[in-house]
Amino acid sequence: MRETDKRIAPPADFAIIGGGPAGLMAADYLSRHGQKVTLYERMPTVGRKFLMAGKSGLNLTHNENFERFITRYGDRLPFLKPMIDGFTPTDLRRWADDLGAETYAGTSGKIFPKVMKASPLLRAWISKLQEQGVVIKTRHQWLRFKDGGHVVHTPEGELFIKPDATIFALGGASWPKLGSDGRWQTEFAAHSIDFEPLKPANCGFDVDWSETIKERFAGEPVKTVLASAGGQSLQGEFVITPNGVEGSLIYAFSAYLRDTLLEKQKAVLTLDLAPALSSHKIKEALERQNPKASFSTKLRKATGLSPVKIALLRELPALLPHEDIVDRIKNYPLHMQKPRPIEEVISSAGGVRFGALNDDLMLRSHRGTFIAGEMLDWEAPTGGYLLTACFASGLHSARGALKWVSQS
Ligand SMILES: Cc1cc2nc3c(=O)[nH]c(=O)nc-3n(C[C@H](O)[C@H](O)[C@H](O)COP(=O)(O)OP(=O)(O)OC[C@H]3O[C@@H](n4cnc5c(N)ncnc54)[C@H](O)[C@@H]3O)c2cc1C
Repeated sequence: MRETDKRIAPPADFAIIGGGPAGLMAADYLSRHGQKVTLYERMPTVGRKFLMAGKSGLNLTHNENFERFITRYGDRLPFLKPMIDGFTPTDLRRWADDLGAETYAGTSGKIFPKVMKASPLLRAWISKLQEQGVVIKTRHQWLRFKDGGHVVHTPEGELFIKPDATIFALGGASWPKLGSDGRWQTEFAAHSIDFEPLKPANCGFDVDWSETIKERFAGEPVKTVLASAGGQSLQGEFVITPNGVEGSLIYAFSAYLRDTLLEKQKAVLTLDLAPALSSHKIKEALERQNPKASFSTKLRKATGLSPVKIALLRELPALLPHEDIVDRIKNYPLHMQKPRPIEEVISSAGGVRFGALNDDLMLRSHRGTFIAGEMLDWEAPTGGYLLTACFASGLHSARGALKWVSQS
């Protein structure tokens, strides 16, 4: 971790609103630098989404080459790079180690704590924050801006606070039952703070399946396929659901598919259902089949396609005389209808626009007010990139807030 700014700043009063990874990281930095930190969290405990992420192993970051790593933030790279330079995947691993959560790299390069869960790390982190003097006020929900401060709903009624600086880390809008419900958007809009409305990211999509697919294949994995859309091709698998499709392969294309649906009201993921076989090989094998055999038998024997893949081919309109089944196998058009609701997806796109912030993540319109984490307008695929940017932006906002308070 870069500690260039270890100078002693006068103790100031910082409010951190939102106790997810971004807010906790900001609290950690400021309290380590001798500042007075109060963290307000609307839920009865902090870090609920972080704990939920731990249920699938807690993919903290990724060990791919750094130059490749940062491309995962797409066109938001120029904004996020300085933050991730200040808290790299290597720094993140060291930080987790220091909290007793030794990490390892899985075969895909994803980094997990060895215990494959978040609770020991979160427990150790909260103890450290408390030792550093952070006051954590749970069941305290930020409601609105008022007179240069904030109104917070508490079990005892409304509280007015006016800290020297505030860091908002209220998260996005996925899994609202874990705390981040995106309600801040209403109040931010009322104050003309520029944000891109939150929308689903790393999400599944609805597909107009026949009853056969719904009844016989819901829950079935479709593997292995080569998927292509928006100039990108990736090999992997996905799962059929009663409503459509889910899985990491779909999530990898979800930003493109979501935006294309918004713009053109239609979006297609093209699948090669038999990526290991060339068109030529499939054609030859089909010609060798008994012409009297059924469509499914010929396909199965010639290509080894699984029942679910054959059922997918049956979803398409009947072949016209000039059409070629091989083309359908190699270029299967999977039509997406709409992204799954934001409440059930992994993360959100959208958030406070970088144009509304200075380089230190301070709102240009509200001096002394900083934004961090998923509340900012960026998105990234799964693979540890989400948490890395949340930690890094939390730290960056705290550095900025300390600098601002020291200079004002
Ligand atoms: C099921 C699931 C699995 C995931 N797995 C991974 C993974 O393995 N790797 C990865 O990189 N990412 C993963 N993510 C994404 C990752 O958890 C989030 O990107 C990250 O938690 C966002 O951090 P944050 O601090 O910005 O916001 P959050 O973690 O959402 O925290 C925001 C906090 O603010 C509080 N809050 C909201 N509004 C108010 C208010 N008005 N007043 C006071 N408090 C408020 C909320 O209660 C919450 O505690 C996963 C997400 C989900 C849903």
